[in-house]
Amino acid sequence: MASVQGCLLDLSGVLHVGSAPLPGAREAVSRLRRLPIGLRFLTNTSRTPHALLLAQMNQMGLDITAGELLTAPLATRLVLEHRGLRPYLLIHPHLRPDFAGLPRHRPNAVVVGDAGPYFSYQRLNCALRLLMEGAPLLAIAQNRYFMAADGLNLDAGAFVAGLEYAAGLRAEVIGKPAAAMFHAACAQLGLSPDQVVMVGDDVEADVLGALDAGLQAALVRTGKFRETDADQLGNGAPVYADVMDFVDHLEASL
Ligand SMILES: [Mg+2]
Repeated sequence: MASVQGCLLDLSGVLHVGSAPLPGAREAVSRLRRLPIGLRFLTNTSRTPHALLLAQMNQMGLDITAGELLTAPLATRLVLEHRGLRPYLLIHPHLRPDFAGLPRHRPNAVVVGDAGPYFSYQRLNCALRLLMEGAPLLAIAQNRYFMAADGLNLDAGAFVAGLEYAAGLRAEVIGKPAAAMFHAACAQLGLSPDQVVMVGDDVEADVLGALDAGLQAALVRTGKFRETDADQLGNGAPVYADVMDFVDHLEASL
């Protein structure tokens, strides 16, 4: 591993699956904290608000603080505020606290997250009509699927692609693999991207996204990992058995 001064960890599939921490995850975080490096946790999860997500991590014994947790929904909110946009929210109702207080009358932007069972034909049609009138499409994330306790689940990506196709436009993706999310985390750490390593179980969103954004990256064989994912990387990034295996290698390289 080249010189590393900061580490970004994905959550789901790296530190936990569903409500259970992955083996070694708690100790891995503790050991990372003892290293002279900056630490941030970066997730595209768009079904759980920031405060609840933090509480869930802490309940699993994962030692994460509010300021260390960067979520794609919060990054999306910052974009809406910065551009003065009034969103039509195609999101899971649980995520509403992250968008509380934003103007919602006469929406002029469409925000899509992982609404899960709350995607409906009617709501997708409302979004389509706004897009056809010129509203931008902001995708909190466009992941294909994620691993939950009941198996693989469709993520927001399929719905983003459907709206892009129907309206004949491209979404602005806010979450990983978009560079903005990685660069925001590096800026928080006061480091340049090449000094920071991103660790994830999603070869596209976490690893290839981070590499494209100029970071170092590592893939773990947990969560949604498939053997074919490693083939996509070539020599671009190492693959570790799990987050503890990554920490072993990082410690040895410092
Ligand atoms: Mg993941």
